[in-house]
Amino acid sequence: MVMRNYGIPPAPIVSLPITGSSDLFPVRRIYCVGRNYADHVREMGGDPNRSTPIFFTKSRETIVQSGAKIPYPPQTKNLHYEIELVVAMAGETEVFGYGVGLDMTRRDLQAAAKKKGKPWDMAKNFCNSAPCSAVVRVIDAPDISTAKITLTNNGTLKQKSTLNKMIWRVDEIIAHLNKTVTLAAGDLIYTGTPEGVGAVQAGETLIGKIDGLPEIKVAYV
Ligand code: MN
Repeated sequence: MVMRNYGIPPAPIVSLPITGSSDLFPVRRIYCVGRNYADHVREMGGDPNRSTPIFFTKSRETIVQSGAKIPYPPQTKNLHYEIELVVAMAGETEVFGYGVGLDMTRRDLQAAAKKKGKPWDMAKNFCNSAPCSAVVRVIDAPDISTAKITLTNNGTLKQKSTLNKMIWRVDEIIAHLNKTVTLAAGDLIYTGTPEGVGAVQAGETLIGKIDGLPEIKVAYV
């Protein structure tokens, strides 16, 4: 085989720790579900009864591991947290494990895009916009079907729900996604946020938790 060099250094592999292992989970694509908890759909001014699953994507380079300090991003005055269950895929339909993620959103840019029917990309897919905890293998994870999901900002509880309030369950999300794309090993799915989203400022620390999974903690500077 002829070894080829690259004209520029190839991008590094983005990965997440795997709980209880020295192995890493290499991240491929990131899919995110919009409008997956009725009370969050309502707080955003939507009608949960008429919703269908909507999907958007983030680049894998938006991943930030737990414990990081994140610079407050440019082009926003309204950076919102969204605590979410993250599903790590081992194949087209096979789940590798679970994590806890933050779907960080420049809400002012999203609102402007929604108003004009324009794409959400710059509101969702920006540097450091997808913090994620370590991944727990399914075989090592407890039953999380009714687990509590919470987010605190500087110690104050902001979001609180349970995973059984998701409009679409994990298996349904995977089935819906596979109608449109072919999921593959390494893909992450951010499964939507419950009610209580709000703004984070520089100097504040977010901690997201789902019972039985590792926490995600990031500090904005
Ligand atoms: Mn979200």
